[in-house]
Amino acid sequence: MTTVLAVANQKGGVAKTTTVASLGAALSALGQRVLLVDLDPQGCLTFSLGHNPDRLDKSVHDVLVGDTKVREVLIEAGEGLTLMPATIDLAGAEAMLLMKPGREYTLKRALATVADDFDVVIVDCPPSLGVLTLNGLTAADSVLVPLQCETLAHRGVGQLLRTVDEIKQITNPDLDLLGALPTLYDSRTTHSRDVLADVSDRYDLPVLAPPIPRTVRFAEASASGSTVLAGRKNKGADAYRELAENLLASWTKGTPLPTLD
Ligand code: ADP
Ligand code: MG
Repeated sequence: MTTVLAVANQKGGVAKTTTVASLGAALSALGQRVLLVDLDPQGCLTFSLGHNPDRLDKSVHDVLVGDTKVREVLIEAGEGLTLMPATIDLAGAEAMLLMKPGREYTLKRALATVADDFDVVIVDCPPSLGVLTLNGLTAADSVLVPLQCETLAHRGVGQLLRTVDEIKQITNPDLDLLGALPTLYDSRTTHSRDVLADVSDRYDLPVLAPPIPRTVRFAEASASGSTVLAGRKNKGADAYRELAENLLASWTKGTPLPTLD
């Protein structure tokens, strides 16, 4: 059975794309067949995995608004990963999808056609709560919310949680909100920890462990077209490996995900 995980936060720069790529590579290294879906018209995931969105003929856009088959757009993205890439065309998909009946279900229906080929699908949502993100959340079994450990990180979290609730009421009753994933975490100061305590006080939202530490390796990795797991040993890669192991244990054995406290 395929597990579909959406990575969503309408705030930009919180490490959604980094989480999708790194977690995907870690799950692939654990023997999972992994498909990554780039739902952001900016194509950052596509780019960071070594593909130039401007040079691609077909993308997730053609699947969502045309009648292109999923298999026609999938490309290899290194480290055992398969990618459904995005191009800037996707920016127009929001408007075109609005005219389609069942528009929130378009991605879910598309993914069903390749369910036998993948164990895990991870969806990189764009920084908005528009129809593309609604497609990601409707297609997903569970959703992970990366949260940058800085002041005001919580701004927008309430709105995102309301959207998740609406999705559960309307298109996807079984959607499981896994919790917030702390990113860009600085263990040398107490600030990161204070921010996370504030978030878990304000919202009924588990904060997952381990937090993903801030390290320059992430910038180096995406510039080289691979993930942080492909390079030398580093604490960022270790944290994503641990998260991958925890997720896999929860999916296969029902082990609860560890939280910070
Ligand atoms: P989003 O998809 O939410 O907009 P990105 O994944 O693109 O966020 O990350 C934003 C920026 O932060 C990128 O330049 C990325 O390389 C950097 N980044 C992400 N995670 C880390 C980390 N743990 N440490 C340092 N830089 C990071
Ligand atoms: Mg992104």
